[in-house]
Amino acid sequence: MTANGKLSNYALPDKTQLSITMIRIYNTLTKTKEEFVPVHSGKVGMYLCGPTVYKPSHIGHMVGPVIFDAIKRYLTYSGYEVTFIINITDVDDKLISEANRRGLPMPAVAEEMTADYWANLEAMGVKESVSAFPKATEHIGNIIRFVQTLIDKGFAYESDGDVYYDVGKFSDYGKLSHRSLESMLGEGGSTAERKHTPYDFALWKSAKADEPSWDSPWGKGRPGWHIECSVMSKELLGDTFDIHGGGLDLVFPHHENEVAQSEACHGKAMCNFWMHNGLMQASSETGKVGGRNTRSNEEQTAALADNAAEQEAGKISKSKGASAFRDMLKVFEAETIRFFLLSTHYRRPIDFSFERIEEVGKGLETFYRFFKRFEKITGQSFYRLNVPLTRTADKSKEEKSPDGIAELRSKFLESMDDDFNTGGAIGVFFDILRLLNKFIDDNKMEAVQGNSNAVEQLQQGAAVLRELALTLGLFVKPVKEAEAITSASAELVGKLMTLLIELRAAARKNKDFATADKIRKDLSDFGITLEDRPGGTEWRTE
Ligand SMILES: [Zn+2]
Repeated sequence: MTANGKLSNYALPDKTQLSITMIRIYNTLTKTKEEFVPVHSGKVGMYLCGPTVYKPSHIGHMVGPVIFDAIKRYLTYSGYEVTFIINITDVDDKLISEANRRGLPMPAVAEEMTADYWANLEAMGVKESVSAFPKATEHIGNIIRFVQTLIDKGFAYESDGDVYYDVGKFSDYGKLSHRSLESMLGEGGSTAERKHTPYDFALWKSAKADEPSWDSPWGKGRPGWHIECSVMSKELLGDTFDIHGGGLDLVFPHHENEVAQSEACHGKAMCNFWMHNGLMQASSETGKVGGRNTRSNEEQTAALADNAAEQEAGKISKSKGASAFRDMLKVFEAETIRFFLLSTHYRRPIDFSFERIEEVGKGLETFYRFFKRFEKITGQSFYRLNVPLTRTADKSKEEKSPDGIAELRSKFLESMDDDFNTGGAIGVFFDILRLLNKFIDDNKMEAVQGNSNAVEQLQQGAAVLRELALTLGLFVKPVKEAEAITSASAELVGKLMTLLIELRAAARKNKDFATADKIRKDLSDFGITLEDRPGGTEWRTE
């Protein structure tokens, strides 16, 4: 710095700051990719619409959490401190009717299904990533105050115990979903006569007999669905926050209504970046990992009504005997499902079929094989490699990697900086894998010992793969091979072992020791040991 201190004006931001400015996000609001600039420097507030907890989660419920978890991890890696919120809708028409059907109180059903949702998120490695899971019923007081403000400001009106948002009063209505008022349909139905116009939507619903309800200035009732998210996002992230996520099916009416509520209440933007993920659909063809899908988002939106995709995914899963996500976790490793969900660009529809997940799993196996190869050569576990947790590249380390790794690392960052293109980023993982396997082959590392220079290069190259994979929540910890046996096949193995043990016992009884010994010896070759105990024969794997 010079004596007059002017030089400091020309100081360059550090590398981390430079890379932060490179992230671009597709914003549904403007229909363009925009440079990401946070409301508060270095911090990101991110809100994702969560489930209504009335049935066990299915795979459709995991799409948003896994995608936005990867986005959170990548933003964290890029130097931001991220607050990630997923709300829980624990009061709703569907929940009330499910509780009635089961003859249980609504909170009991909500609690059971929230526990199921959390267990699934935990298995998927998402739960610890989420800063808070606010529940609608914990915010009833805040909801009532918010609704009252909207009434006071002239954006809402009470009608026969209900409170409605007066859509005609908010001139920006339709700006998020890019729809004209004429193309929108209100709830209509039994409440139509209480509304000023059919477009108006409920903020507060008067309680029917035997429905759960809370006292309010408008009588006993409960909140509408849309108001919950406006209130909880404001409480946890502030009037204006950075990223609001959700499935494409939520753009209208849910998010459009959130915008109308929050902006009318606060007189400022609710959120700067609206991100919407593609929905799950039945697979029409078996695509390749990272392959492109030809169906456009617009077509998809038009084709899918409220929750249709989730129902579709639920139907397909059900036909395979795994409609609940917890049952799918018995068939597939959580990491395989995460890899599958991130293999497509988040804005594209996800072609769902068990065959596609299996195919993705085969791609994942090639990484696991490399990790074993790596460990054999270096004597070090891939999962114990020390890697940087921020993206500021360490040039000295990059230079020690095999040729081409630094370029692939840059390609990965470019993919992710370009609207979190996880599909492209995963494609780079395969490129790195090919390069490292070739490096091992070219240097004959499995045959020749003692080339410490090559070993160090291999370690540095593998460390880059691990560093990047962690930003997508992949290869965090080893997948235990024993766990890869599904419960169904474990049951079958158990039955087969009982049969073999019985056949061996019968052979011994008949003094056919040759057969009995053959059974014991052949099983031993498979890695299964038989132990004759006083109570009978038991078996164990080595
Ligand atoms: Zn929401």
